[in-house]
Amino acid sequence: MREIQMVDLKAQYDKIGSEIDNAIKSVLVSTAFIKGPDIKQFEEELQEYMSVKHVISCANGTDALHLAMMVLGLKPGDEVITTDFTFIATVEVVALLGLKLVIVDAEPGTFNISPEAVRKAITPKTKAIVPVHLFGQCADMESLIELAEKHHLFIIEDAAQATGADYLFKNGTTKKAGTIGHIGTTSFFPSKNLGCYGDGGALYTNDDTFARKLRSIANHGMKVRYHYDDIGVNSRLDTIQAAILRVKLKHLSKFNEARKAVADRYDKAFEGCHSISVPERSVFSSHIFHQYTIKVKNGKRDDLKKFLESKKIPSMVYYPGPIHLQKAYGYLGYKENDFPVTTILCKEVLSLPMHPEMDREQLDYITLNVLEFFDKSL
Ligand SMILES: *Cc1c(COP(=O)(O)O)cnc(C)c1O
Repeated sequence: MREIQMVDLKAQYDKIGSEIDNAIKSVLVSTAFIKGPDIKQFEEELQEYMSVKHVISCANGTDALHLAMMVLGLKPGDEVITTDFTFIATVEVVALLGLKLVIVDAEPGTFNISPEAVRKAITPKTKAIVPVHLFGQCADMESLIELAEKHHLFIIEDAAQATGADYLFKNGTTKKAGTIGHIGTTSFFPSKNLGCYGDGGALYTNDDTFARKLRSIANHGMKVRYHYDDIGVNSRLDTIQAAILRVKLKHLSKFNEARKAVADRYDKAFEGCHSISVPERSVFSSHIFHQYTIKVKNGKRDDLKKFLESKKIPSMVYYPGPIHLQKAYGYLGYKENDFPVTTILCKEVLSLPMHPEMDREQLDYITLNVLEFFDKSL
């Protein structure tokens, strides 16, 4: 059996390596390393895939969030509401821009931001909501849109973990994760569902004015060469990464399907096991399983992780601590028990190996060992 990895980029490269090599080679030969033709082509291809009017590439997913916050023209002290259960990038850009970070709890089943908690946190100073489509499944956007419309708020979707997930509206229409709010952001970090071979990111928007301004501030605030209309930053996607992403985008749907098949097998194998709960699938979103995250009951999570390690099965805790208890965010003044759902999730969650290249033998080996652990510990 092939050694099991959380994400097996090597196995993926073994499959699509020759396409990737050709793509990289063509950039090397052209030497158009910055803003080469692959950038525009990739943006157009991703626009098509996402059914969105504008894709603006940038250097990474954190920058994408940063640029999104900048373009909204928020002022220091304006309040931005986001979830306690996310990767730190979501909140750090809010803090960096001097905006007031307002944290709310997640939902226990889907791990996503609780619209009810958002509703309670809205004040006259609230300007934006940042839902994160965690682990590959959309947050409850329709409830959030209702709140945003009522209170005139912006919605920035952090879609870094959900490239390709579909949101299903009550009227039967669908939209891709990241194209529902005013601006969506994503990351092409290698382990993401659509990942490159280094850092990369992008923004999505259907708004022409935001798009124009985002392109400008991602490139020093420059529209015409050496004329600066906005205060900007340097955040560009490398041409080599764009060329790699063009190859990987062609495979994305197939890869996401393969992840879902892995998740289905995990679900089935764990059906009778009452010591864990499998990830809840919401009615309004497809799930592209950036992570397959179970909840382990009765304080057994860390023991299970150790047991799996002894069997050479990797697993990860995303995320081991809530945002509100991180030292860097102590200044916000939240108390230990302010967000009980997230606090419990941090003690119970365990993400199992999940990638499109996982084979049947590996899957059987993982599920057998998880079940064996609970048989033994009864
Ligand atoms: C990966 C990730 C980011 C940041 O992406 P980088 O490209 O690493 O900067 C932001 N938000 C979430 C939820 C992520 O998973």
